[in-house]
Amino acid sequence: MTDNPISASEITELTKGLNRLSRNLWWTWNQEAQEVFQELSPRAWQNLYHNAVAVLHEVSDYELRSRLQDAQFAARVKELLYLFDSYMNKEDTWAREHATSLVESPVAYFSAEFGFHETLPIAAGGLGILAGDHTKSASDLGLGFVGISLFYRLGYFQQAINQENWQTEYYSLLNPRNLPMEPVLDARGDPLVIPIQIATNRVVVQVWQVNVGRSVVYLLDANRPENDQHFKDLTEKVYGGDRTTRIMQEIILGVGGVRVLRQLGIQPSVFHMNEGHSAFLVFELMREKIAEGNSFEEAMEWVKGRCVFTTHTPVPAGHDRFEPDLMAYTLGWLRKQLRMPEKQFLSLGRVNADDEDETFCMTVLALKGSRAANGVSELHGQISRNMWNMLYPDKAVDEVPIGHITNGIHLPGWMKGRNRKFWRDKVGSDWVEKINSRELWELMSDPEFVSDEEIWAFRYAMRRELIEFARRRLLIQDRKYEGDFINFDRLLNPDALTIGFARRFATYKRAPLIFDRYEEILSIVKDPQRPIQFVFAGKAHPHDEQGKSFIQRIIHLSKNSELAGHLVFLENYDVHVARQMVSGCDVWLNNPRRPLEASGTSGQKTACHGGLNLSILDGWWREAYDGTNGFAIGDDSHPDSVDEQDRRDRENLFRVLTEEVIPCFFSRDAKGIPRQWISRVRRAMTTINPAFNTNRMVQDYILKYYKK
Ligand SMILES: *Cc1c(COP(=O)(O)O)cnc(C)c1O
Repeated sequence: MTDNPISASEITELTKGLNRLSRNLWWTWNQEAQEVFQELSPRAWQNLYHNAVAVLHEVSDYELRSRLQDAQFAARVKELLYLFDSYMNKEDTWAREHATSLVESPVAYFSAEFGFHETLPIAAGGLGILAGDHTKSASDLGLGFVGISLFYRLGYFQQAINQENWQTEYYSLLNPRNLPMEPVLDARGDPLVIPIQIATNRVVVQVWQVNVGRSVVYLLDANRPENDQHFKDLTEKVYGGDRTTRIMQEIILGVGGVRVLRQLGIQPSVFHMNEGHSAFLVFELMREKIAEGNSFEEAMEWVKGRCVFTTHTPVPAGHDRFEPDLMAYTLGWLRKQLRMPEKQFLSLGRVNADDEDETFCMTVLALKGSRAANGVSELHGQISRNMWNMLYPDKAVDEVPIGHITNGIHLPGWMKGRNRKFWRDKVGSDWVEKINSRELWELMSDPEFVSDEEIWAFRYAMRRELIEFARRRLLIQDRKYEGDFINFDRLLNPDALTIGFARRFATYKRAPLIFDRYEEILSIVKDPQRPIQFVFAGKAHPHDEQGKSFIQRIIHLSKNSELAGHLVFLENYDVHVARQMVSGCDVWLNNPRRPLEASGTSGQKTACHGGLNLSILDGWWREAYDGTNGFAIGDDSHPDSVDEQDRRDRENLFRVLTEEVIPCFFSRDAKGIPRQWISRVRRAMTTINPAFNTNRMVQDYILKYYKK
């Protein structure tokens, strides 16, 4: 029997559908969608870095129509589009049931960075990734959600390592035509532009729309012909430029962001400031209220009633501060419209209103301008209450109005293909609906559901995928240096205990800590019976010389010491590299100087793939670790002295590694299975993922902070 040919009009429907789908990042967390785009051109899929829009540009319209004559392929595309449409139009969502008012008037979520996917590199690190995951879960829950950020046409920097093993930075121009974004148009069909004043200049920004499932994110872009060159370049790089660039970017984000929402007729019920970068939105909202004839107090009360604020770090550099002169120069016009004397205006960003030397702090403005504030883990909540107690002199530390919601990850977006397939085969195609539930992850504790042998086979396959990825990357990385020949297919050992470390190379994260005990590490690594290896990656901020020296030291060890072959550094850490590493490593190492981590999330991405965390009890791990589901470095305390802490942590790390991690991994039974290791893997998957995901996190935000 042959299938009837598919009608021309049906094929037109399917082509249109695929184009629509490629322009909604929903496909980045849907396996079947990725498979369809990949199948259209496996080579373009790989070369263009998994970019559905670009794949459809590569495939001609005629080819696409011809390929859809294949009835089986057409049926898959049809099923996929049906899934997509059902998702987009779903009525009985969690938010509709628990927060109806927030479905009608959305949450406006302001963030200087968003990390959605490797093809849109406009995030610098964990803060942006979290914002992206928040956006995806808001969509999954059916929450009304609008994100606001900037379109950085050079994105965040790409990392290359030179012959001195020193990090260098370069930028690639992002082309909106090849990205899942489109210009927002005005009534006449021209790109919508929004005027903003900066100092005495009129600057206009254009608005781009990114669809993330049901959520919409607007990116503001100063690269317009109307602007002088130095204003055009304002939005070119994530956290690029100097203090003047930074304050101007933040004016665009906060003031411009509110104006975009107004222009589009969106009336948010909540303004959520994800970190202090966007806090100038407080000024813009007050300006509106005062222009309507309200007093300062009335305006302040109205604004406070609608804003919430999340602080993300105890590290001082994470809290923007601006000199009073710079404030006066760039925002004098706004101060006049707020009808405030200079001192009063600046006092909104000062702890001590009378201290004229105090710089203007965005965190202070955000705290003063919001009805609720939170840190991103229990410990970080405590630390933040201490840190900002001086803003509330008549309150005791534990009465400081800063709570906490612990960060999570968007599980459907982080789980790798093989992992998704595992669950789909075991549970059925609706497994994704249950992905955040206790019941689903509880299954991992049941030997009837999955045997130790199957788990071990799965872990082996994940490690193999990482090693092959690493070999490909290392080959490309090192091809730059002719003569420096390495046998790439012998790098890394598929049987070795593989320990991963990847994140921003901020000093407090202490990337090279484990190599401080070089001789001892060398002796354990060289044990032929119990092979061990390390995979490292991460970017240092372009101005962070110490972070760069950490990278240099690790690469030097990987190439010029006896650790060579047991240690590799993968260049240009991003979402794609992260996905390979978190899924393929057996152990995910994190050794920040407590309590500076705030939360951290990368270890959660490891847990859902059956990797084990080996971490300081800081941030989320302090809440997740229960003695059975991974490994702890040290205990729930830290000394005041940094030197003492480094010494203690180094010692504890080495002890746990040699006394717990390594023996557990290599203790095999007669069948060659590490039973105790696998029992920890089971515990990690059952306990961590149902709690540390952004579905739970966004629900907490809704119930604790978004709903009045
Ligand atoms: C998850 C992730 C991070 C955050 O990692 P932490 O260990 O929480 O700091 C940073 N960058 C990328 C690309 C990530 O995927």
